Amino acid sequence: MAELEGLEFGKSDFVLLDEVTMEQFMENLKLRFEKGRIYTYIGEVVVSVNPYRQMDIYGKETIEAYRGRELYENPPHLYAVSDAAYKAMKRRAKDTCIVISGESGAGKTEASKYIMQYIAAITNPGQRAEVESVKNVLLKSNCVLEAFGNAKTNRNDNSSRFGKYMDINFNFNGDPTGGHINNYLLEKSRVVHQQDGERNFHSFYQLLRGGSEEMLQLLHLQGDPAAYAFTREGAAAATSNNDRQNHKAVMSALEVIGFSNQEITSIYQILASILLLGNIQFEEDGESSLLYRTVATGGGEVIEKGHTEQDACFGREAFAKALYERLFAWIVSRINSVIEVKNYNPVLHGKNTVIGVLDIYGFEIFDNNSFEQFCINYCNEKLQQLFIELILQQEQSEYQREGITWQHIDYFNNQIIVDLVEQPHKGIISILDEACLTVGKVTDTVCLESMNTKLGQHPHYTSRKLSPTDKTMDFQKHFRIRHYAGDVTYSVEGFLDKNKDLLFQDFKRLMYNSANPVLKEMWPDGQLGITEVTKRPLTAATLFKNSIVALVDKLACKEPYYVRCIKPNEMKSPVLFDDARCQHQVAYLGLLENVMVRRAGFAYRQLYSRFLQRYKMTCEYTWPNHLMASDRDAVEAIITQHGFQDDVAFGHTKLFVRTPRSLFTLEQERAAL
Ligand code: ATP
Ligand code: MG
Repeated sequence: MAELEGLEFGKSDFVLLDEVTMEQFMENLKLRFEKGRIYTYIGEVVVSVNPYRQMDIYGKETIEAYRGRELYENPPHLYAVSDAAYKAMKRRAKDTCIVISGESGAGKTEASKYIMQYIAAITNPGQRAEVESVKNVLLKSNCVLEAFGNAKTNRNDNSSRFGKYMDINFNFNGDPTGGHINNYLLEKSRVVHQQDGERNFHSFYQLLRGGSEEMLQLLHLQGDPAAYAFTREGAAAATSNNDRQNHKAVMSALEVIGFSNQEITSIYQILASILLLGNIQFEEDGESSLLYRTVATGGGEVIEKGHTEQDACFGREAFAKALYERLFAWIVSRINSVIEVKNYNPVLHGKNTVIGVLDIYGFEIFDNNSFEQFCINYCNEKLQQLFIELILQQEQSEYQREGITWQHIDYFNNQIIVDLVEQPHKGIISILDEACLTVGKVTDTVCLESMNTKLGQHPHYTSRKLSPTDKTMDFQKHFRIRHYAGDVTYSVEGFLDKNKDLLFQDFKRLMYNSANPVLKEMWPDGQLGITEVTKRPLTAATLFKNSIVALVDKLACKEPYYVRCIKPNEMKSPVLFDDARCQHQVAYLGLLENVMVRRAGFAYRQLYSRFLQRYKMTCEYTWPNHLMASDRDAVEAIITQHGFQDDVAFGHTKLFVRTPRSLFTLEQERAAL
């Protein structure tokens, strides 16, 4: 078993700080980072600092050391929470989830992969083939989703441009039987445009740089990203990604997952058509559905309407984005069809339990914040709300059940911000939707006016009009939300177009009528006739809101475990700890309040029988066996002998321990025997 850490590595649980102040918190976080201790607990929450270097802490031996152990029996690690989530699921048949949060580049996706690897490593000891195959597909799906959903940004060479929630299903043996992936809001605007220094999705460069000559010829492509408008900007971007090698890995992953040759070919054909679409130059007399569109007039008549060059460009971009978005969604659903649990009979096989892993974009504040940041930050408000509810609610109900008195801790409740965004009729999303439904020329600025009028008094909303002294921004185009994580000023430009997410029906029909069955499958709405498309589709913001509400419902009924990731610096440096940047993250992740809640309550709890089993050798009255009336009495004897009475409370079935100090002492005594 791994040695517990010495004091020179700082406190392995923030609950042990002498005082809960930002100074002490930061000092400990920094010390641990500098000593190569990237994980630290707050009770059961893991705080992780991105090491930006390969750490020797993920090998087989480490996995064995954490397997089946309690949190405080080993130094803090992702494996320990993974095991806790797994144990809860297996022993108590509880659905659990691991929520990973943090800003871009903080290490969420890497953490989610280590968690999955751990779960894969500790399950299916009998090596049953069908279970091995499920595990293999689950692990391989990461490679495919990263190729199509990740991109180099200025903050992260491998930034996930979508949110991901994955359920892993288990049978009564605790072996994986399948899973399901939900994806959220792919940043499709990246397909047609990238900021300086950024790239399009990896998949394009992988195809162009890694595709065989034969394949490229078949797709009418040149193997050079600089040759295509959509990949030109990012072609020269320095990146640690090896496109050629990754292309091979993705191709083989697709095969392992079970994509047919025809499906794989179709995927690359779609990528190729997007690239070619980007290179089309428009002339005003061409004849394609890019230049005309059919529209239904009020009287049910169908007419053809010519596009201006600008309309045609808009249509082309919308089409390219939609093609990619649907491709991505189809890949996810195809993977789901392979990993969905089949032939499971709960009567025969017992309860099918689930561990969910959430790796979703963190709070974003950029120089220019648009509709995407608005959605992402709303999502983080919802998750923060859930964090508050679950942490408090769960604590309270457990104390109640065990008959222990507990002091309530005050927390900033961000429900008010959630309401500002999502409340029916009054919230920002409603106002946006209303503007999108209004016939006629409602511009972004008009919509902003409407928001300013309706929300001007809200304590978390600032109409920029009220502060024209700020010369740095065009105040007629901005509004500001006071998020729980900080103030964010949004530029309203493009909000309405992005919310409407318009795509001419002609494109959909064209795709649906394709001879390629894969393409057809991606565009079921293309079968609608032109006059049938009267019902307005839901807006992008409302669709997103609905998906996040559904996600929160899913998480809320599971026992949650949290990983809070911190990005130590902007330079991807393994040695730099940027105090100000880190402190900001600690503040908005609410970590200090988290410590306070943990300190007020009891960080650790343990069934009497298990506690006794582990520590009976540290007390003369319990070793080798006790003669007391109950395990509870025996545990009390151990606690009294060590003088830990003030640090614990005795529940009906469990011992509650306030700080890990006493447990560490017991662990050390046990190890010394
Ligand atoms: P985004 O929100 O942009 O997707 P993220 O939080 O998912 O960001 P990751 O992609 O997981 O961030 O991490 C960014 C990079 O940091 C990784 O590509 C890797 O180089 C490094 N990194 C993160 N975690 C670790 C780790 N545990 N060990 C070594 N390197 C790491
Ligand atoms: Mg990521």
